[in-house]
Parts: sequence; C-alpha cells; structure tokens
Amino acid sequence: MTGTTLDDYTDRYARRVRGMTVSEIRALFAVASRPEVVSLAGGAPYIAALSLDAVGDMLGRLGSEQGVDTLQYGIGQGTLALRERICEVMSLSGIDVGCGASPEDVVVTVGGQQALDLVSRLFLDPGDVVLAEGPTYVGALGVFQAAQAQVVHVPMDDDGLVPEALEAAIAEVARTGRRAKFLYTIPTYQNPTGVTLSEERRERVLDICERAGLLVVEDDPYGQLGFSGDAPRPLRARRRDGVFYLSTFSKTFAPGLRVGWILAPHAVREKLVIASEAQILCPSAYAQAAVTTYLTTMPWRDQLKIYREIYRERRDALLDALGDLMPEGTTWTRPDGGLFIWASLPDGLDSKAMLPRAIAARVAYVPGTGFYADGSGHGFMRLNFSFPSPERIREGVRRLAGVMEQELAMRQVFGGVPGPVGRRGQAGADVPGPDLA
Ligand code: PMP
Repeated sequence: MTGTTLDDYTDRYARRVRGMTVSEIRALFAVASRPEVVSLAGGAPYIAALSLDAVGDMLGRLGSEQGVDTLQYGIGQGTLALRERICEVMSLSGIDVGCGASPEDVVVTVGGQQALDLVSRLFLDPGDVVLAEGPTYVGALGVFQAAQAQVVHVPMDDDGLVPEALEAAIAEVARTGRRAKFLYTIPTYQNPTGVTLSEERRERVLDICERAGLLVVEDDPYGQLGFSGDAPRPLRARRRDGVFYLSTFSKTFAPGLRVGWILAPHAVREKLVIASEAQILCPSAYAQAAVTTYLTTMPWRDQLKIYREIYRERRDALLDALGDLMPEGTTWTRPDGGLFIWASLPDGLDSKAMLPRAIAARVAYVPGTGFYADGSGHGFMRLNFSFPSPERIREGVRRLAGVMEQELAMRQVFGGVPGPVGRRGQAGADVPGPDLA
C-alpha cells in the first residue's frame, strides 16, 4: 500500500460513521464529574434509594443457586418469565390484555437504547425521515444519525407535541417527495423538557399518524414516575396497530442491569427478534433473572413510590431554587413527573458557550444544543433533579445564577456575548455520551 498507513482510518470509515464526532462538551463533562461540581447534567436515577443489601443478596443467590441457567445463553426474544412480568408492569399504565398486550409480542432488549436501535434498523434506510419532538432525547438522535436518517423536529408547547405542527411537518416532508417513516415521541414526562402530551392531544396525534400512514414509536421510560396521580394513558393503550411501545427498567429499578423492552405489533415481532439476534444473540440471562426475581419477590411497587417521593421533593427543590435565584427573563417547565426541567435563558445567553464558565464555577447542565439534530437550542438548557440532594440542587442553581448574571453584565458592557443564540441552526448534532442519558 502506498499513500496511506494502517493507522490512517479516515478513508475507511463506513458512511454512517462519518457523522459521528466526539462532542466538545464531552471533554467538559469529564471535569464535571468531579465531586466539587454540582451536576444538574446527568439522567441517573437515585440508586441509593434501593434496598441495596436486599438487592445484593438477591443478585448473589442468582449466581450461587441458579447459575447453571443465569450464566448460560438464553433465547433472543428474552425469557417468558420476564416477558410475563413486563406485561404486568405495563398493565399498571393501562396497556393490558384488553388492548392486545401479550408476552408473545414483547421483545426484551439491552435497555431502552437497544430498543430504539432495533426499531430504527427495521424501518430506516439512509435518507429516510423521522419526525420527533423538538427538543428530543439525545440518545435517540444518535441512533437516527447512525441510521443516516434525517430528523425533522416538530415543535412542542406546555401540552406536548403540537398536532397542527405535526400535520404541517408531514405535509412539508411529502412536498419534498419523501415520506416520514415514523413519529418518535416521548409523550409522558419527556426527556429533556419534562412536558406531558395532554389527554386530548393523544387522540389527535394518533389520528394524524394513522391518516398519514405514519408508524408511532412511543418511548416511555418515565411514565410510572408521576408525582401527582396517574399520567394520561400511553398511546399504545389506545391503539394496537402501528404503535411500537418502548420502555426500560433503567429509571424504575436500575440502569446497571441494562434491561428494557419493546411491545411490538404482532406482525413485526419476529423480524425484531431476528434483528436483535444478529446484534446481540440474546439479552443477558443474568440481568433478566435479576429483574424477574426483583419483580416476583421484592416490593417493587413500594420502590416506585419511594422513587416518586424522592423525585417530587427534588423537583420542588429545583423549582423553588429557580424561582428564588434565576435572573429575570429565564423561564422553565414545571414537570409533573420524570427527571428533568427545561429552562429557557434570557435573550442573548448561549448555554453552550456558557458551559465552560459554569463548570469553572462548579456547576454543570446539558446545553440545549444536544437535543436538536441541527445543533440549535442555544437558548435552552436541561436540568436534572433526580440525582443531587435538595441542598446540592439549591447550591447548583445559586452557582448557575451567578454565572448567568455575570454573562448578562458582560453583555451590557460589551454589547453581547460571543456565540449564536436561540434556535439558530448549526451543522451536525452535538451528542453527549451515556453519562448524560
Ligand atoms: N429513551 C429515553 C427517552 C431516555 O431518556 C433514555 C435514557 N435516558 C433511554 C431511552 C435509554 O434507556 P436505557 O438506559 O434503558 O438504555
């Protein structure tokens, strides 16, 4: 070979890999994980709220007493025992036998993330369009980008996805001679905004998708983490055809086990299993046994309540701190569940440009740019309330408010802080890594 050496890989990458770049904010987050930094950036559940001794005993016994099965290969679809338990979990949200939910149509996945990847593998060719809320889950953007699909964002308001905007987006895509394959939506306690699609809009969104022949991928990791009563029923509880329901035990039990699932329309379940086997052979038998045993022998409904109570208290701490400390012109969502608040900054502030200064002031957040496929969203930030204690949350907001006040003062003196603002577009998504899930 001449001209290239074997350590030069640039020309050898598959086309789908070329758009994958290491986000500059990843390096900043290496610093943000230091203990002196209050991180409002992550998406981690508060695992210390689990009865760790009891869970630890259970995990140990799975090895010593059932190791012959739990340390062995399993089947691609996942164990029947777990799929039955998953149906029980879904029935709490109204997805039950009455609406055609059956263990037969459940595919166990390696977290919600593999569920997203599988649905994308099944339906997306390069150049296909995916409609998604703007903003949306950063990890979904990474999956769609790897599939070389184009994401068209649909605006949201306090009631979630705007149905008229969805209709307009479908029409606009059709005008360009293409067809959107599916709507990707997180209707309940959305990541990153915390917003919930209203009862009335759920029916309208489903009707619009049905009329347009658009599949619906409903991602629901947070639906059982509501703070004041039940959330509106999932989309899948209203329609069995054309809706893929994705969820995970990452937020309601433990993300370290990496167990999620898809409830698929019966006709495609087999293809999903084949695609999953090609990718991972089978989900971990040990992790599946851990979740099954947790759901059969431990008080998991009580644990859900514990998580909800802790998160409600922390959500209140964050709302109170924002109300007391944020500079004028800042607004934010008031989520009724989930892990996140979405804040809109005063005119002229740029969350991405400000991040190094925030980290120097020992507070971290995720800039809004991570949640738009085109890298817009400079005027927004995502704040997490599930992990830090109420006291740390208040201290973090105090530090953040200080940085914002300084930026605003600089703007007054110098007539502007460098960097783009608001929803101005930029090439390429700005996708942070798993520590920001
Ligand atoms: N979907 C959404 C909306 C999420 O927020 C997350 C995790 N933050 C996932 C999927 C991935 O979940 P898991 O950790 O189970 O892979």
